[in-house]
Amino acid sequence: MNRKVIIAGNWKMNKTGSEGKALVGELAAAVAPFDPAEVDIVVCPPFTTLAEVRPVIAGTKIKLGAQNVHWAESGAFTGEISASMLKEAGVEYVIIGHSERRQYFGETDETVNKRLQAALKAGLKPIVCIGESLAEREGGRTEEVLRRQVRGGFAGLDAAAMAQIVVAYEPVWAIGTGRTATPAMAEETHAFVRSELAAMFGADCAAKVRIQYGGSMKADNARELVAQADIDGGLIGGASLKSADFARLIAEALAK
Ligand code: PEP
Repeated sequence: MNRKVIIAGNWKMNKTGSEGKALVGELAAAVAPFDPAEVDIVVCPPFTTLAEVRPVIAGTKIKLGAQNVHWAESGAFTGEISASMLKEAGVEYVIIGHSERRQYFGETDETVNKRLQAALKAGLKPIVCIGESLAEREGGRTEEVLRRQVRGGFAGLDAAAMAQIVVAYEPVWAIGTGRTATPAMAEETHAFVRSELAAMFGADCAAKVRIQYGGSMKADNARELVAQADIDGGLIGGASLKSADFARLIAEALAK
């Protein structure tokens, strides 16, 4: 199964509007040679930076993503942003259930599922994050945790909906730590996640779903990771904040 590579940059709480504009201006030039039939390139700036970035990436190879979405259409949810607000802001992708949201903001599989349903209904393309903590991996509970996140996060969806979703497997112990899962370890876990998707949605659907790796991915390790059979790209934090680093990472991923 030939799945198109997807590399997404999660800027987290970095880059003001002017900084974001400068970054995508450089990045657009750096990624101009890449073939959009081979790779989807996404940036996910903070909400306040979306409007600044949007006109700069129009007509380039860069697509716009956000970092979170609320499940309600509108109403008394101070500090939250709805799917229709993101749509109108020109957003195409949205990250849901990042481990930092789970760890610091009380995100659960149930809230991930609610956000996911709202995003799909609005026609956004969700990037749903799953992953185990260090204690869970060391305690031999990786598969149990991932199974729970997959079953809870994707509950109630059919295969057609699942096919719209990108999954990001991000071992929490590898995020921002400089510690990457070995390609073999990541591949073993990606294959497990795909088998769980097959159990829920059928083998045809599971074979189509793109599963990104995330956790200290950079130019130096991207090629070997994306060369694995079940690794279809990356969700990138730190290495997406400098245009040269991000462009080099994409080039390495495509050289697999
Ligand atoms: C992330 O935030 O999703 C991530 C993978 O971060 P980093 O690349 O910095 O580890």
